[in-house]
Amino acid sequence: MAIKNLVGENLEEIEAAVARLNEPRYRSRQIYTGIYKHLYCSWDQFTDLGKPLRAKLKERYSLSHIPAQRVFVSNDGTRRYLFEVASGQKIESVFIPEERRDTFCISTQVGCAIGCLFCVTGKLPMQRNLLPGEIVGQILTMQAERGTSSKRLNIVIMGMGEPLNNYDNVMKAVRLMTDDRGMSISPRRVTLSTSGIVPGIRRLANEPVIPNIAISLNATTDAVRDLLMPINKKWNIATLLEACRNFPLAQRRRITFEYVLIENINDSLEDARRLVNLLQGLQKKVNLIPLNADPWIALKPAPPARVIAFQELLAQHHITVNIRRPRGDDVSAACGMLAGRELSRGDLVHPPLFKGVEG
Ligand code: SAH
Ligand code: SF4
Repeated sequence: MAIKNLVGENLEEIEAAVARLNEPRYRSRQIYTGIYKHLYCSWDQFTDLGKPLRAKLKERYSLSHIPAQRVFVSNDGTRRYLFEVASGQKIESVFIPEERRDTFCISTQVGCAIGCLFCVTGKLPMQRNLLPGEIVGQILTMQAERGTSSKRLNIVIMGMGEPLNNYDNVMKAVRLMTDDRGMSISPRRVTLSTSGIVPGIRRLANEPVIPNIAISLNATTDAVRDLLMPINKKWNIATLLEACRNFPLAQRRRITFEYVLIENINDSLEDARRLVNLLQGLQKKVNLIPLNADPWIALKPAPPARVIAFQELLAQHHITVNIRRPRGDDVSAACGMLAGRELSRGDLVHPPLFKGVEG
């Protein structure tokens, strides 16, 4: 009989599994809290279940968290976790310690099909969607390793892959991570970043649990966005921003717009002015991200003075704007750098299939 992994199953599915074993229903709650609250990853840890039941469960079900293959630790305390989800399929997650909270950045796909010009992940072949258990499994592994309580946690779905192209698995994972009976992470502390998959943004509005959304905008004209993010040819800036305007925001919630600043491409003051106009009327904040440079990318970061001038112009127009400082760049853990690398810097494990410009 094939062994099924219970990590990634919701309470109803665990109830069904328990019913199939002819065990009383209350056992499901014990199993569910064991997995998602106590972070157990072996049946032997479930001492409240009794030995005979544990033996029965062990025969049919596993509790696999996808163990980290390697962890790279940056000078700034950021940790890059490398996981092998199947032979030759590497994904990464990043743990970013901050004063009042810890941020976990998680992946949703092995590779990415979008192929943005500035992103190393986009140079990799898209291999497959991650399963719900592999998505929450990244959090469970890091949480168990770091001993972080769920109250301190911020989850950013900003690692490898386009989350809205793996909609069902990602949303099941979001429901699991925010379930009070288990992982209990507040939905206000979960942010999903998208390159702009408009039907996915529309669908999100009807979800029972809605995470914060971040939009990777990165340009103020369709000509430049077409060049940087090929997805813009499918849903252009106007269509994307219209979906954002129609997105229902609970009180005090805002949409985050991410804007990677690239020298001489999108970092002029005219761009800043256009951005102000484009975002008018939206409940928003803007994160400016100076491009993280990499040998695989033939683009340069905007010089610091241009970044400051860009920020000032937005601030003058009363836009909340942050400059995101790179974290973990010495171990290839910063935004856009995730590529399943075995080394801190240097060669990619799998020579990428180049879809963009070669560096
Ligand atoms: N696929 C999703 C989520 C992962 S990318 C998305 O595109 O939104 C997460 C963020 O990293 C995006 O905002 C993207 O614009 C940014 N990013 C990608 N490559 C980068 C680089 N080289 N330097 C800085 N930020 C980068
Ligand atoms: Fe994919 Fe996001 Fe990278 Fe674009 S920026 S290639 S969508 S991971």
